[in-house]
Amino acid sequence: MGNTQIKAYGATSVTTPMHEMNITRRDIRPCDVEFEILYCGICHSDLHSIRNDWGNAVYPQVPGHEIVGRITRIGSEVKKFKIGDLAAVGCIVESCQSCQYCHEGEEQFCEQGVTFSFNSEDKISGGMTYGGFSQTYVCDEKYVLQMPAFEDLASAAPLLCAGITVYSPLKHWRAGKGKHIGILGIGGLGHLAIKIAKAMGAYVTVFTSSPAKVTDAKRLGADAAVLSSDKEQMRACPPQDMILDTVSAEHDVNRYINLLKVDGSLVIVGLPAEPLKVGAFNIIHGRKSFSGSNIGGIAETQEMLDFCYRHNIVADSEIIDIKEVNTAFDRLARGDVKYRFVIDMSTLK
Ligand code: NAP
Ligand code: ZN
Ligand code: ZN
Repeated sequence: MGNTQIKAYGATSVTTPMHEMNITRRDIRPCDVEFEILYCGICHSDLHSIRNDWGNAVYPQVPGHEIVGRITRIGSEVKKFKIGDLAAVGCIVESCQSCQYCHEGEEQFCEQGVTFSFNSEDKISGGMTYGGFSQTYVCDEKYVLQMPAFEDLASAAPLLCAGITVYSPLKHWRAGKGKHIGILGIGGLGHLAIKIAKAMGAYVTVFTSSPAKVTDAKRLGADAAVLSSDKEQMRACPPQDMILDTVSAEHDVNRYINLLKVDGSLVIVGLPAEPLKVGAFNIIHGRKSFSGSNIGGIAETQEMLDFCYRHNIVADSEIIDIKEVNTAFDRLARGDVKYRFVIDMSTLK
């Protein structure tokens, strides 16, 4: 059948708004599936990337890595899917499959370097990968998730990045009964972290810089909410086993390290472009850890989807038309979203 020309939304430079463009999807190989994209979430990483905050943006660039769709074609060796099934792709679309980390199901740490679903060197077709702000996706079935039949499928799309990015460290640091877990920042990642940490059984305290979100944190399921600018509230906060830091901009992490128990961990998932300063005295006192976590492997992403389906967890989302995507990015930059934009991809006709 050959490669296929499809419509997408992307930017041709750092200064131009996203607009409709044509891109090519490769023909399916025996191990590949093709799916029609139904919904795509908008993550702050899409914003960092399209605005070249991290200095690695290549244009034209088509963002989108919280991708949910329905299978339209399958290769001859595909086992997991049939035409008409729901399917999803998150951040990872290729890895070496032979290194230690690929074997352990932690493809995100592949020694050969993982291929991401957008703005990543495409080792199969050449050029760069184009993301989910498009009509279809083609991917090796190994990296395609089986999407449970969520009632609100659109609001489940953000699980593909935001969901796994918080689930993986919460599980790794054993969030659960008897643990005090702090969530720093209530955005796309943070609001899902509240729901997932609660479902794991932890006592959840949220730290927000936005006064308006304090009451909302409780509605989302948090046991306690702290306005981070209020020194008294910060002082009164009980010691935390782990604080998951989802903040997208520069901020003082030492204030949160000081809230940890002995052996507690501050775990960074947010990706501000500038390095964060950690005071040595804050870490040594209480044998504390300053750590990080990057998305999660494919098997764990499937586990997270099934967990969220069982616990009825989806994002609080605002569904938009593809034509509103530039406005949505501006609003996300201002923190004006509760709590995830999801694009209804049927609007890209
Ligand atoms: P988001 O929806 O914009 O949420 C970020 C939150 O950070 C905001 O809602 C705000 O929460 C807080 N914040 C923003 N600027 C702040 C500032 N100057 N000082 C203090 N707090 C501030 O973004 P997201 O989609 O959740 O992504 C969050 C970060 O995680 C991004 O940097 C993204 O690139 C990164 N990320 C990393 C991974 C990974 O694998 N490690 C995966 C996905 C995303 P409050 O209003 O409550 O303070
Ligand atoms: Zn993301
Ligand atoms: Zn590998």
